[in-house]
Amino acid sequence: MSVAKSKPLSNNPYITVAKFGGTSVADYQAMLRCAHIIKKDRTNRVVVVSASAGVTNHLVRLSQAGIGAEERENIIAAIARIQFAISCQLTCQSALDEEINELLSALSRCAAQQATDYSLQNSDEILSFGEQFSSRIFAQVLQSIGVNGHYFDVRQVMKTDSLYGKAQVNLAQLSTQAKALLRPKLNEQVVVTQGFIGSDQLGKTTTLGRGGSDYSAALIAEAIQANNVSIWTDVVGIFTTDPRITGQARSIKEISFGEAAEMATFGAKILHPATLIPAMRQDIPVFVGSSKEPDAGGTRIQRTVDSNPTYRSIALRREQTLVTVKSPEMLHASGFLAKIFTVLAKHQLSVDLITTSEISVALTFDNPFGSTQALLTQAVVAELEQLCEVSVEHGLSLIAVIGNKIHGSTGVGSRIFEQVNDFNIRMICHGASEHNLCFLVPESDANQVVERLHDTLFSNQG
Ligand code: ADP
Ligand code: ASP
Ligand code: MG
Repeated sequence: MSVAKSKPLSNNPYITVAKFGGTSVADYQAMLRCAHIIKKDRTNRVVVVSASAGVTNHLVRLSQAGIGAEERENIIAAIARIQFAISCQLTCQSALDEEINELLSALSRCAAQQATDYSLQNSDEILSFGEQFSSRIFAQVLQSIGVNGHYFDVRQVMKTDSLYGKAQVNLAQLSTQAKALLRPKLNEQVVVTQGFIGSDQLGKTTTLGRGGSDYSAALIAEAIQANNVSIWTDVVGIFTTDPRITGQARSIKEISFGEAAEMATFGAKILHPATLIPAMRQDIPVFVGSSKEPDAGGTRIQRTVDSNPTYRSIALRREQTLVTVKSPEMLHASGFLAKIFTVLAKHQLSVDLITTSEISVALTFDNPFGSTQALLTQAVVAELEQLCEVSVEHGLSLIAVIGNKIHGSTGVGSRIFEQVNDFNIRMICHGASEHNLCFLVPESDANQVVERLHDTLFSNQG
């Protein structure tokens, strides 16, 4: 097949790193739409892809211990169907199918090993296959429409520690490697690489945490000093709340780094929570748009924006655990909190929110689906019980109202809480951040509370 070479770039070219999420690379038609987005704007020189929709969830199951041979085969067959359904649309099918078959065999070996001899490292190896498939396929889809797209293994540059499941990136190494190995390629080609995965100092595969491809794109942009990051997803930008919760949600044209970072931290799934950290460090604007409707606009995230409203959005994070520790010893005593936190630190548990009274402390923990982070186990609870009374509640959702100067504006608390006074509010955090006010509600009430608050806070924003 003859492939039109992308025009060489000048010495100091404008570079966009474009990231496509799982639904954007779910099937052939979706990938083709993304390929045309790349072709239309020649500043798109680096493409970061997620695994095709559903593939990582299949891999999470495969990465667990003790999965039987039949289930393993069924899962691998389901993944194969997704990937071959795309490759069969391409004229270079046979070479690509050979690569896919090689990857499937390697995956099958890793899965068999995991079933009998579980390791966290092998778990990350297994999880990495989704992005390996989609990046190889997407490079070919680009070539099929005349874009000089080439597969690049991000593990050469995305160097991390060995905290499998949530590896921390070594920024200095990433910067050196990306400048040496990736940046020079951009004069001649569009590089297609993987989000979510990296490799440790021994060259073993690592992953950055679920939804980590957004973060990968921003890290790569920072490392190669790109001018822009485009996150192409399934919605036309960042909305005032998750559009799946209410049809009243509206796309936001412009939002500051700080506000968007707060949304991501408080559960707006549209961006991985760490995405804006590299973008803020290098002041790289981030665009969020829909690969289904690339001309419908989207959201621009940047350092400063024209308007800074008190209420910008509402975020929702499900599957929260609330732990209340209580002890009369706390009254006028010092060192009690330190003891509690020593236990939590020993078990690598990261506390999310805290409120205290004279004799008790309430703490929340995040327990997202597919997470490999440390969880609050019975052993931790038993250890805390040596120090105090402990109660643990599951099935809660955290709702965060995000905006500007929320801590200093009058009437914010009453406006929010009068809307939800018939719900059981379990914990409130207000005042610590200028950008948010948040509280816990029972999981079953969460959507209704968000809808009601959204109606009140955003009803006049047609
Ligand atoms: P991708 O696979 O492209 O990374 P995700 O599923 O991770 O996409 O993120 C996109 C989804 O985020 C949307 O479909 C939407 O339901 C959800 N979402 C949650 N909060 C928001 C929000 N405030 N604005 C837009 N989308 C949101
Ligand atoms: N494929 C990974 C996941 O599903 C990473 C990503 O999509 O961002 O979590
Ligand atoms: Mg995502």
